[in-house]
This record gives sequence, structure tokens and C-alpha cells, in this order.
Amino acid sequence: MRQLPSSKNLFIKVVIFLLPFFLIGMFFNAPIESLCIGLVCLIVWHYHQLSLLIDWLWKKRGAYPPASKGIWADVFDGIYQQQRKHRKKRNELTVLVRRFRLGAESLPDAALVFNNDRTLVWCNSLAQKMLGFKWPEDMGNRIDNFLRQPEFIEYLELENYEKPFEFPSPVNELTILECRIAPFEKDKWTLIARDITQIKQIEQMRKDFIANVSHELRTPLTVMRGYLELLTESDVPEAAIWKKAHAMMNEQTIRMDGLVNQLLTLTKLENKQFVLAQSKVNVARLLQMIAEEAKTLSDNKHIINLDIEPNLFISSSEEQIRSAFSNLIFNAARYTPAGKSINISWKALDNGGARFVCRDTGDGIPAEHLSRLTERFYRVNQARTRDSGGSGLGLSIVKHILANHNSDLEISSQVNVGSTFSFTIPAQFIVKE
Ligand code: ADP
Repeated sequence: MRQLPSSKNLFIKVVIFLLPFFLIGMFFNAPIESLCIGLVCLIVWHYHQLSLLIDWLWKKRGAYPPASKGIWADVFDGIYQQQRKHRKKRNELTVLVRRFRLGAESLPDAALVFNNDRTLVWCNSLAQKMLGFKWPEDMGNRIDNFLRQPEFIEYLELENYEKPFEFPSPVNELTILECRIAPFEKDKWTLIARDITQIKQIEQMRKDFIANVSHELRTPLTVMRGYLELLTESDVPEAAIWKKAHAMMNEQTIRMDGLVNQLLTLTKLENKQFVLAQSKVNVARLLQMIAEEAKTLSDNKHIINLDIEPNLFISSSEEQIRSAFSNLIFNAARYTPAGKSINISWKALDNGGARFVCRDTGDGIPAEHLSRLTERFYRVNQARTRDSGGSGLGLSIVKHILANHNSDLEISSQVNVGSTFSFTIPAQFIVKE
């Protein structure tokens, strides 16, 4: 077994080395001179070993230690062992840091660490994307140079981070971020920011929806209440008044009923409660019927042209298909002035699908409204369309029905020229005979 180096061992070795010099010196009667020669040899040997050590430590870094004997072999070996231990620790730490960074990168949120003096210590790539930091260029820069909103600075100053803070992203104002700050180390903090734009939009939609439904129901209710008050006061109203009141109340009841039915349909469609009943829908016959109804609706004031391929059926729910076609065709009739034409076509496509197009020559829709038309209760001209009996739910229903058939509603329009509403039903739903 190898002996561990110690100062006692070292002393014994020096004595053993110098002893022959001393004895030879005694023999020649010059022990001191002989001992001096021995010491000089010792110094030269140590000097050589030292220069080997310097060479190894500073020039041949990482290489194996030079071969040596005695105490210097122990020194070289000791340093080498220590170096290996440190290298292993450093590698372990590097792996740990890399793992931490990868973990932080895989977070679905922006994450950053900052010092008490608000200087940036580290940030992940989502923080760079969502908050506009550059890494590693911005390391050491103050985070409030980037997140400058006065409310956010105030939030930082208060240092009360129990509640999260919401603010628009400095990179894109339309993105709303919610940030949370928590202590990280003694004088460091982590900031986690997540995108809550969609949650905010849903919240807003919910508020709008309640406001819209209340508004839509209030109008017919107000009319009915007015007539009911009139009836109690005059007990038996004149025949003419009673006739008008009855007609109005009837109209408003039908309107409310229609609205509630449309809302129920929408809810069912959104919750995917409508199972596509597999009946074979005769589209040609259905479109002819709807066109007739549209003519009646507009007192035959439109020219409705049909270009329909017969024997092109849809395998689906008749109720849904009727609803989609009739909403689009009735809208065309509603928003096209008398005397103008409406063109409806239903044609097979080469890929096995079929295309429906409803082109009117009506008022048209300004471009800025097109992307919002399928939102619930969205109307281009609130007052006018409400007067025309519209609820603002029709296109929303069409959109959901088409989604059930893996299809999208396409809308193009030019003001004072007309609008085109079209969609393609994919081959999987089409039956040809
Ligand atoms: P509404 O019951 O009010 O007609 P829709 O959802 O069917 O509701 O339509 C939404 C809005 O889109 C309408 O209020 C109207 O402003 C516009 N619109 C729909 N179809 C047409 C069309 N063919 N021509 C012009 N505007 C239309």
C-alpha cells in the first residue's frame, strides 16, 4: 500500500539522501563540504522538479503530470487528483445549469431573473420574443428600460407582488400580458409573464354577448309592455287600436321566439350537440324551395337566377343544410334593393366536392366589416338591419354549420356592387347519382 506523504516522511527522506554525503565526507575528513555538495544536489533536483511543475501547470494544461519520484511524485499526483475532482464538479455544474436553462426554455411563459437594482441576470427566449429583450446583449441592463409603463414601474416600486400585474406587451400593443414576480435568491427576483390576450377576448365576448342578448330581448318586450299598459287603461280598446296592438305584439313575439331559437341552435352547434343525421339532402330541390320563399319574402321584387347541378346531394343533416342555405339566400334578398338580381349556383368540383355561391347585386359591405361578419350579433348597420328583422346571428350559425362539414364561409363584397357568399362542401359529404 502506498504511504501517504507527510512532513515526517519528507524529513526522513532528506536525512537518508544526505547521510551518504555525510559518511563519505567523514571518510575524507570534510563532512561539512560533503554535506554542502549533497544540499546543492538536492536544490538542483528540486529546482528541476519546480520547473517541470510550472511547465505542466501553465503550458501543458490538462495533460498528465510529468513523471517524477519521491516527494514530487506525491505533489504532482495530489495536484492532478484535485484538478480531476474540480473538473468533474465543473462538468456536473455545467450539466445542471444547462438543464435549468432547458427547463426554463420549455416554459410556455416568458421568464427572467433580475437583481434588486432591476438589472437583468437572465431571460428565456420567450421573454426576448414577448418583452423585447436581447440575450446576452441586455444582460446587466435595467429591466425598466424595456418595460417602461408608469403603472409597471409603480408596481415594481411598491414591491407588493401578491397580485399579478396586467400590461400590454412592449413588442405588440394588442397582446395583453399578465406578470407575476417572486423572490428567487437573497437579492434576486423572477418575473414570469404569460399571454392572456385570448382570455381577455373571451371575457369581453361574454360581456358583449350578455349585453347584446339583453338589448335584443328588451326591444320587443318594451313594445309589448307599452301595448299591455294601453289595454288595461282603456279596458276595451277600439277595434282599430286592438287590431294594430295585436299585430304588433304578434310580430314581436315571433321575433323573440326566432331569436331564442337561433340562440339555442347556436349553443347546440357550439357544443357539438348536433349529430349529423345521415340523410341524403336533395340540394337542387331545397335551393328551389328556398329561392321561392325568398321571392315571397321580398314580394317578388328580385330576379333570382338558379344555376344548379341536379343529382348532387349532400349526406348530412337536412336541418343544418337548409339553415346554412336559407340564411345566405334570405340575407341576399334582405340586403338587395328591389328590381336587382341574385344569382345562386351549386356545382360539382373536379376533386369530388361541390361549391355553393350566392352572388347578389345589393348594397355591398365595406371591407373593414368583412372579417367580423360571422361574430354573434355583429351587424354592419345596427339600426337598419334590426329594422329589417335581422338578429345578427345568421352568419354565425352558417359558420358553425360549415365547420361541422369541414368547410369555411368565404365572403367578398364591394360597396354598391354586391356581395358574394360561397363555400365548398368536401367530397366526403357529397353523393352523386
Ligand atoms: P342579420 O340577421 O342581421 O342579417 P347575419 O349574421 O345574417 O345577421 O348578418 C350579419 C350582418 O352582415 C347583417 O346585419 C348585414 O349587415 C350584413 N350582411 C349579411 N349578408 C349581407 C348581404 N348579402 N349584403 C349586405 N350585407 C349583408
